[in-house]
Amino acid sequence: MNSYLTSVSGYPRIGEKREWKRSIEKYWSGETKQTDFLQEMKELRLGYLRTQKEKGIDVIPVGDFSFYDHVLDTASMFGLVPERFEYDGGSVSLDLYFQMARGSKQAVAMEMTKWFNTNYHYIVPELNKCTPSLVHNRPLDLFLEAKNEAGITGKPVVISPFTFVKLGKGYTPEEFGSTVYALLPHYETVIRELSEAGADWIQIDDPSLQFTLTEEEKEIVTNVYDALSKAKGTSRLLIQTYFDSIDDYTFVTSLPVDGFGLDFVHDRGENASSIEENGFPEEKVLFAGVINGRNIWRADVREQWELLKSLTAHTSEERLIIQPSCSLLHVPVTTESEAKMPEFLKEGLAFANEKLDELQLLQSALREKELLNYVAPVIPGRDSVHVQKEVKQAELDTGDRSRPFAERQVLQREKFQLPLLPTTTIGSFPQTTEVRKKRQQWRKNELSAADYASFIKQETKKWIDIQEKLDLDVLVHGEFERTDMVEFFGEKLKGFYFTQFAWVQSYGSRCVKPPVIYGDVDFINEMTVKETVYAQSLTSRPVKGMLTGPVTIFNWSFVREDVPKATVMNQIALALRKEVKALETQGIHMIQVDEPAIREGLPLKKRNEQEYLNYAVKAFKLSVSTVESDTQIHTHMCYSDFEKIIDSISAMDADVISIETSRSHGELISAFESYHYDKEIGLGVYDIHSPRVPMKEEIIQNISRALRVLDPKQFWVNPDCGLKTRKEEETIAALKVMVEAAKEVRQQL
Ligand code: GLN
Ligand code: ZN
Repeated sequence: MNSYLTSVSGYPRIGEKREWKRSIEKYWSGETKQTDFLQEMKELRLGYLRTQKEKGIDVIPVGDFSFYDHVLDTASMFGLVPERFEYDGGSVSLDLYFQMARGSKQAVAMEMTKWFNTNYHYIVPELNKCTPSLVHNRPLDLFLEAKNEAGITGKPVVISPFTFVKLGKGYTPEEFGSTVYALLPHYETVIRELSEAGADWIQIDDPSLQFTLTEEEKEIVTNVYDALSKAKGTSRLLIQTYFDSIDDYTFVTSLPVDGFGLDFVHDRGENASSIEENGFPEEKVLFAGVINGRNIWRADVREQWELLKSLTAHTSEERLIIQPSCSLLHVPVTTESEAKMPEFLKEGLAFANEKLDELQLLQSALREKELLNYVAPVIPGRDSVHVQKEVKQAELDTGDRSRPFAERQVLQREKFQLPLLPTTTIGSFPQTTEVRKKRQQWRKNELSAADYASFIKQETKKWIDIQEKLDLDVLVHGEFERTDMVEFFGEKLKGFYFTQFAWVQSYGSRCVKPPVIYGDVDFINEMTVKETVYAQSLTSRPVKGMLTGPVTIFNWSFVREDVPKATVMNQIALALRKEVKALETQGIHMIQVDEPAIREGLPLKKRNEQEYLNYAVKAFKLSVSTVESDTQIHTHMCYSDFEKIIDSISAMDADVISIETSRSHGELISAFESYHYDKEIGLGVYDIHSPRVPMKEEIIQNISRALRVLDPKQFWVNPDCGLKTRKEEETIAALKVMVEAAKEVRQQL
């Protein structure tokens, strides 16, 4: 039957139990030979295709699989290898490919950055003096492999030249068009060869089309698709967008291709409204992304069924294909692996494979015109009457502290008596092998809770002594009891579930396992008080309490969709507020609430940004607003394109903020030239991502540069970020230099 086909735009690479990751890492460590590695990868790849076929998917993607990253795959297939690597044309070898991603002895790795608004990171193409040539028609190879070895006529996936160049760097704005055009003939060859090999649909990923395009960009996009459509032969071209609605619907849908893949989940149904208003071009096929490819909850199939029926009115049964809103790369593989998960939760969840079942259910509902015995999933867990009441109240609360910053600052100065340019760190100290080993032993019950606790105490004491010796002004307890900054809190709060295998790829072979926030979030017991109070008891200098903030916990978790985001964030905030209060009551008067991930939740469209920022700022404020005026609230952010959101950062009203700046010191400081930031601030004075011990002169230079635009009375001296991943000796050596540098600058003031 040809009506209501199902399709997938991308499938997870990592495997049910991260087999993919293990296989790659074994190859890197030399444990596996290249031929064996390639064979393992091939088996995984074909296995994924078979799973999709067994699940009844009609249009199955090929070429979405990767050994590392699909953007790097694209750069490699066009021979776009940066000059610093050894390469003399021809197909990019496997080892060179990995060197580009991870660096080699001679050459630093290519840059990595976030893939749109996801937590996936891609390798940034370097397009300086771009002279591409098609050195390997990768999609063709994978198409043929699927056809010959699995009997599947797959849908090859390629990133559009427009989006590919947009994601890259190394060209001026004026060179954008010529860079795209240099690639175009090679893309034409890819398409032509695929067509000759018998490809039916070819998916061209062009998520950049969702942004507002300039006239010039539109012209380039038009030329690109004109050229590709001439090369397509009997194949059909699909423009695939995702993560948001397309900004200029009429422009995009007038491009000369055969189908359009649109996201009907994000941006509040904007794409559906565009179709309602403008109709959908006749003869074209709509790939309707109705199942959320970014989240792990079961869909309300009845609701999506209704949506699809209304879309059919603008297309037809044959011209409507059902699929997830984006590649399933962003969700774990299957709930079947979760043997320990309570049934009630499992029933509410759909990872990649369960989403394929949902597509099938929708397909049969549309074909049979009925959805029998369907009950929409109800996810329990929202059962805390008092939490819901408190959140309602909090909505009316401004989250303001009782006095403005200027007044708080006077009180805090009097209380803490810190020197100018006070020195401190961001929270964590090195997590040595020993620290990690002890934690493992304790988790496996090989070490008693009491012994583990006393080990943590011993480490804390050791580092309080080190910090005093270094003469730092504000100390921290060192976070030795924590693995991950979200997991640590999630495990202690109500409403979270930690899965066993729900991993998703973050970058390369690195995967993350975000917790599931399924219930009302509530405070149960004190989480950090014991360790912090102990650390404070060892010194007369202030020790900063250390918490992960509500926005970061939210952004690094899977969050349910039937509750407004702001409500979940506020629930986390109110739970943290109890911890903040407990710390304060027990003598901790400086408390840092980290928000490294505040920018990660920022919507892709400018018009939606402010709404997010408003509720994110509000949640942060709620978590700390009830402390006394002379309790000093700190926050920390990792590098975050500070300029764009400086208003919101200021609105968080933290007494002190520390920001990672190593890779953008100059830029960041210039942001303050025009902006009168009035609160206290520490711009990281040395880069913690490298083992190198900085020189005193460099740190002095960084401090002095900041003091050209910031008042010495508001400036703090601290490293860039937490020191968890560093070695002990280098940490101590670097901090020693930092304190000396601060003292030297202080004397000159
Ligand atoms: N307090 C945390 C630490 O020092 C902050 C980590 C972060 O910025 N990501 O590790
Ligand atoms: Zn950081």
